[in-house]
Amino acid sequence: MTVRYDVMLAGAGLANGLIAWRLHQQRPDLKVLLLEQGDRLGGNHTWSFHEADLTPAQHAWLAPLVSHRWDGYQVIFPERRRRLPGGYMSIAAHDFARVLSRTLAGQVRTGARITQLTPTSVTLEDGEVLEAGAVIDGRGAQSSPHLALGYQGFVGQEVRLSRPHGLTEPILMDASVEQGQGYRFVYVLPFSADTLLIEDTHYVDGPVIDAARLRGNISAYAQARGWSTVEVLREEQGVLPITLAGDLSAFWHDHAGQPVSGLRAGLFHPTTGYSLPHAVRLAERIASAPDLSAAALARIVALEAEREWRRQGFFRLLNRMLFLAGKPGDRWKVMQRFYGLQAGLISRFYAGRLTPLDKLRIVSGKPPVPLGQAIRAAGLTQPRKIRISA
Ligand SMILES: Cc1cc2nc3c(=O)[nH]c(=O)nc-3n(C[C@H](O)[C@H](O)[C@H](O)COP(=O)(O)OP(=O)(O)OC[C@H]3O[C@@H](n4cnc5c(N)ncnc54)[C@H](O)[C@@H]3O)c2cc1C
Repeated sequence: MTVRYDVMLAGAGLANGLIAWRLHQQRPDLKVLLLEQGDRLGGNHTWSFHEADLTPAQHAWLAPLVSHRWDGYQVIFPERRRRLPGGYMSIAAHDFARVLSRTLAGQVRTGARITQLTPTSVTLEDGEVLEAGAVIDGRGAQSSPHLALGYQGFVGQEVRLSRPHGLTEPILMDASVEQGQGYRFVYVLPFSADTLLIEDTHYVDGPVIDAARLRGNISAYAQARGWSTVEVLREEQGVLPITLAGDLSAFWHDHAGQPVSGLRAGLFHPTTGYSLPHAVRLAERIASAPDLSAAALARIVALEAEREWRRQGFFRLLNRMLFLAGKPGDRWKVMQRFYGLQAGLISRFYAGRLTPLDKLRIVSGKPPVPLGQAIRAAGLTQPRKIRISA
């Protein structure tokens, strides 16, 4: 007999994994199925977020998935070095996979590649068709002609060193490094006394990275810091979307009643490409929805995405400054100036919750890029008018 699921989650990455986890906590009576093409949930990532991005209640339900926590972090620029207070946390994908697979036993199918999907059914590679009251498509980012994007491309290596590194808190941005074709910085997370995640990151115009070059940058950075690497334990890489402008209604029109989640729903921070806080909020909305039909869930997601889009206009404007104004090699100046602002403002920036006064503070004073170019970049709100050299 065919099983009909209440909710089927297509792709078991961050967003759908959190929806399944929250549904399990709030609605254990439901028949839920997570489908993943890979051999484990969550892929190969380290997902980090700031404590202030989430409410205490959200922290409480997410806590079993959190792998690391620090009390503050540093940023380093050619003319500024600063420690900022505030918790910073990471979820390692292997912990996410371990906890979710154990808790959701019987609700997960790995090695299940989806070839077709509708709001209420999924077809797998081997032809099997599965049905549900609603299918939520969380198969990661999808390109859209209705969004003008820049990219944050990076390679990260988790390394074991010959001696303790002495770092007790993350370096979120070390932009004192040589700049490339766009804004470049190194991101470092100290996982234990002798292990680090070191990521070489570039804000670039196209969705491609030269992984070999970035690996070389990581080893040069480690060497310059006096860290001798004994072993590369793991590597992750990504090219995250940075939104410059877009036409939200056309973007949603393309989804045509299909519930979506995560990057596919455009639910990410426009300047960092990070999506964890958005994924947490969406998981809560879905788990508390009285109606879990596909039509109702598609409406919930579209409303959430629309609300976020309206809140994020200012971030898209900042992104245009970062990608379209000034010389690529000078764009670090935008970030260096930003990190001179008040700690509370910086924390609200990451949480995507700037106040009108915060916005005024960010744009007031002498701009770190030429004024004419800044004004031109600010006015480019139509995705089709934006030409970056991708
Ligand atoms: C290496 C890396 C590090 C990142 N670090 C952070 C961070 O620190 N903090 C943060 O907030 N964000 C981070 N991000 C950005 C973003 O939050 C992540 O990309 C996040 O995983 C996006 O969530 P998602 O659920 O939309 O997609 P994903 O987590 O990518 O999940 C999509 C899933 O769908 C599966 N899938 C795709 N196609 C099919 C198919 N046809 N059939 C079956 N399954 C399929 C994939 O295998 C994958 O598991 C990072 C991204 C990357 C790539």
